[in-house]
Amino acid sequence: MAVLPILRFEDKIVEAVEKNPVVVIIGETGSGKSTQLSQILRRRGYTRSGAIAITQPRRVAAVSVSRRVALEVGAQLGEEVGYAIRFEDRTSDKTCIKYLTDGVLLRESLSNPRLDQYSVIILDEAHERSLNTDILLGLMKRLVKMRSSNLKVLITSATLDGVKVSKFFSDCPILNVPGQLFPVEKLYSSERPKNYIDSSMRTALDIHSREPPGDILIFMTGQDEIEKMVSKLEEKIQNLEEGSCMDALVLPLHGSLPPEMQVRVFSPAPQNCRRIIVATNIAETSLTVDGIVYVIDTGYVKQRQYNPSTGMYSLDVVQISRVQADQRAGRAGRTCPGKCYRLYPSSVYYEEFLDATVPEIQRSSLTGSVLYLKSLNLPDIDILKFDFLDSPSRESLADALRQLYLIDAIDENGMITHVGRTMAELPLEPSLSRTLIEANELGCLSQALTVVAMLSAEITHFPIQRNTKDKKRKQVLQLPDGSYWGDPILLLQIYESWDRSDYDPDWCIEQNLQVRNMKFAKDVRKQLSLIMKKISKGTVDIQSSLRHKIVEQDYRGLRRALCRGYGNQLAERMLHHNGFRTLGYRSQLVQVHPSSVLEANEDGRLPDYVVYHELISTSRPFMRNVCAVDMSWVIPILKKLEKMDIYKLSGALESGKIEQEENKQLPPPSAEGNSKSIGDSM
Ligand code: ADP
Repeated sequence: MAVLPILRFEDKIVEAVEKNPVVVIIGETGSGKSTQLSQILRRRGYTRSGAIAITQPRRVAAVSVSRRVALEVGAQLGEEVGYAIRFEDRTSDKTCIKYLTDGVLLRESLSNPRLDQYSVIILDEAHERSLNTDILLGLMKRLVKMRSSNLKVLITSATLDGVKVSKFFSDCPILNVPGQLFPVEKLYSSERPKNYIDSSMRTALDIHSREPPGDILIFMTGQDEIEKMVSKLEEKIQNLEEGSCMDALVLPLHGSLPPEMQVRVFSPAPQNCRRIIVATNIAETSLTVDGIVYVIDTGYVKQRQYNPSTGMYSLDVVQISRVQADQRAGRAGRTCPGKCYRLYPSSVYYEEFLDATVPEIQRSSLTGSVLYLKSLNLPDIDILKFDFLDSPSRESLADALRQLYLIDAIDENGMITHVGRTMAELPLEPSLSRTLIEANELGCLSQALTVVAMLSAEITHFPIQRNTKDKKRKQVLQLPDGSYWGDPILLLQIYESWDRSDYDPDWCIEQNLQVRNMKFAKDVRKQLSLIMKKISKGTVDIQSSLRHKIVEQDYRGLRRALCRGYGNQLAERMLHHNGFRTLGYRSQLVQVHPSSVLEANEDGRLPDYVVYHELISTSRPFMRNVCAVDMSWVIPILKKLEKMDIYKLSGALESGKIEQEENKQLPPPSAEGNSKSIGDSM
């Protein structure tokens, strides 16, 4: 195999690292940044005074790359080379090359703000501009000042604007590692296809029957599409009239693929066989699959977007950026000249695509990040002035402060509270942490741990079959009084039924639940129990077994804890309208998502007050994972809301400079109207 480009620059890289605290390394995808840099620095003695941390924005990349590196250095995974992702730590005292998600490194910096355990920190895949990597960039800037003599920071990327990052780090050097890309011919469609799935399939079949050997990589937007495409392709290939002279092996590649399936894409194709890999944008830069000669680019990507003015998430299929299109095409030219079939006209590429993807920090809820920054307790960190590579909007920072206040993580002056500090210690989004803390107070932590674990394992949908005759399913699902208290309660019941079956995999299959996900939930639950025990210094009350305990018929304690955790996500039923109205500093009409168990209540009655896990915008605004709560629990939250003052929360009144700017951006509380109308409705 040819030497990876980065290895040819070993001396140059080491020299730059030796002389500078921060170095930016730009290299084509597949040049060896993720797998080789850590090994180079280890060979050159950088692990003598600490370990090397390499962050990855994606869990699957952290696992896959660390496996590869362990293999290359001939170590057992988890010994010299290991990985740590949320809820999974495969490292030991011996680990000196540690791959970890950017979120895990942020969390580690909470318990050790100087990150003394590391001599080198590599922020890999920085071009992805994940929210956590962007925050780490700001923190690294502080850290190199604090530890300039014994910390090296490398920022590596395939396509990042190196000059911008270099400027951010006081003009640190940029090393460009030229790749060995072969030319890639770009073939545009004359128009956008009506159905890009069908169109990609036809293109793939065409390549397979007519073009010389070489693997095909098709970019789709998500798991569902990929699964559909894989089965359709397999069927068509079997019945191909105009047969190809070789066999074909169709393989999916996405973030939720079980590890044994991921490994398959890294094995070369069998003799006289063409691989057709159907992937999400994970194959753009995160994972490099060798042997690709043909790329089919639909021009789309699935992107999660948060709107701070509505508090709503949308998961939209959007057009990719030009940078992404170029990356996709580049995948075809790694081993020989290749072809990229762009299923859109060139005018779309030049005139409609954005130059680069909008960084996540500008399209995410910042609640968790702001809590994290607050909990660092750095005297000179004013959230509104934190040094970001690209600043988030003031609106989304203000939104985060308001949400944190409503769930008691910060006080009315924007200072982090004792509860907020405990919340930051939990590897969960703030509402879930708050729920656990409250549940601990109310004596129902065991139940809350189950719900939180099920939500974290993303077992968020349970296929409800309405009017089902299936008695078994009803037994599992239905509450004694024939109604439902909400999706979190259902999740609890599902887990408890599984527990009663002695964690029987067949039970999961019968119930249409993925065994792997349920096992993950069990593991997460166990880990969260340990963290809760540690945080509360052994005073927590978690029943070791879920069985044989007396449960309140209406799950009052648990629902009350959820109401506290989701105090920022409340809704009230509209009497003369088929739906709900969110309560808070923004009010809007929303509906219970059709997948919710509340929609299945036998008498069709919906509760007067609910909390929800998230608001999503599909055809209409929908609340997902909804739970009935009592009005008496809602009133104190509304009172808090009335007192809320964004000026005080942001601390802007104290720093006169921001005051003027704030005046322009944020309307005074009285102008918001919501708090008044809430008062009226009570
Ligand atoms: P970069 O980070 O610059 O994109 P990588 O270090 O990820 O490059 O990849 C370098 C080489 O290692 C590529 O040829 C890639 O195919 C190979 N590689 C990376 N991860 C794995 C893996 N898990 N299994 C097999 N090969 C891998």
